[in-house]
Amino acid sequence: MYANEFDYYRADSVDHALELLTTNEGARPIAGSHGLVPRMRTGEESPPTLVDITDLGALSGIDRSDDAVSIGALTTHAEIAESEAVFEDATAMAEAANELGDPQVRNGGTIGGNLAHGDARADLPAALLALDGELVLRGADGDRTVGATDLFRGHFRTTVDATELVTAVRLPVADDAASAYVKRRNPLSGYALVGVAARLHLEWGADDGGGNDDPTVTTARVAVTGATTHPTRLPGVEDELEGATLAGASDDDVVLDAAARATEGLDEGDYRVDVQTSPEYLEHLLPLYTERAVRRTLENARER
Ligand SMILES: Cc1cc2nc3c(=O)[nH]c(=O)nc-3n(C[C@H](O)[C@H](O)[C@H](O)COP(=O)(O)OP(=O)(O)OC[C@H]3O[C@@H](n4cnc5c(N)ncnc54)[C@H](O)[C@@H]3O)c2cc1C
Repeated sequence: MYANEFDYYRADSVDHALELLTTNEGARPIAGSHGLVPRMRTGEESPPTLVDITDLGALSGIDRSDDAVSIGALTTHAEIAESEAVFEDATAMAEAANELGDPQVRNGGTIGGNLAHGDARADLPAALLALDGELVLRGADGDRTVGATDLFRGHFRTTVDATELVTAVRLPVADDAASAYVKRRNPLSGYALVGVAARLHLEWGADDGGGNDDPTVTTARVAVTGATTHPTRLPGVEDELEGATLAGASDDDVVLDAAARATEGLDEGDYRVDVQTSPEYLEHLLPLYTERAVRRTLENARER
């Protein structure tokens, strides 16, 4: 199916893009076009005007400061997956970008578009939530930031206003933290049936002489995408992990008890059901992938 007709503008600066977005009613920015154009072709969305922002080089690139990794909105998934800075300090985001789609999608789609789009099956939102990240947005009234927990409101619904641009994604870094992302792919689309990201702040105990120093979790962030109507944190898992000591191979009970709380507070209507899923299936997968995400985070921590 062809998209309805629309006007097309190519912005040459962020200010120009904002002007075009505010003066053309219903206008939408377009970046990698891998999210919006498929929906225009199926008629699910039909913006009268597109504002192409791909020439705005200032919105690209990855910057590591003392306390954060900052990723420009136009940075592609492939650039994020290959970034040493992201892998080192925000591993869950690098792993999520690496798991996303196929090479063509990873080289076209952008982090700003992925997060503004609010697709409940997308990979990056779980990493953003677990990493306590935030979006930097620019609108006619200047800049504002929105934290991950205030961003996702439903399938294709976020708190980014249609006249705002995501300019960057900010991920705080900490020496004592490690993170990971694991995913069960939808075999048909490649999107996440269930994707779980975890970030643990760890305090390492004294070596017991056998090379085993058991970390205690001081702060835990665990978040899911794909399985729920919108990406969300899993507070039961976080509660169970915080304060727990994870004793290497013998930590099974702790991690399993935490994973078992992944479905806590989720009702049947909170699961994102389509022709390939059911609440029962997702309820089954969620603890499994939560367990894997926590274990992978520990592995990543031990490797750091
Ligand atoms: C075949 C295929 C497979 C895919 N598989 C996956 C997958 O497995 N996992 C996954 O997470 N994603 C997947 N995607 C989605 C894709 O990777 C993109 O991340 C996503 O579609 C949005 O990024 P984009 O840059 O293409 O945004 P666009 O399509 O250009 O825009 C998407 C939305 O975001 C808005 N937008 C874009 N940039 C900005 C900005 N800077 N500020 C404000 N609003 C903005 C647009 O107005 C639009 O509403 C897949 C896509 C395709 C086509």
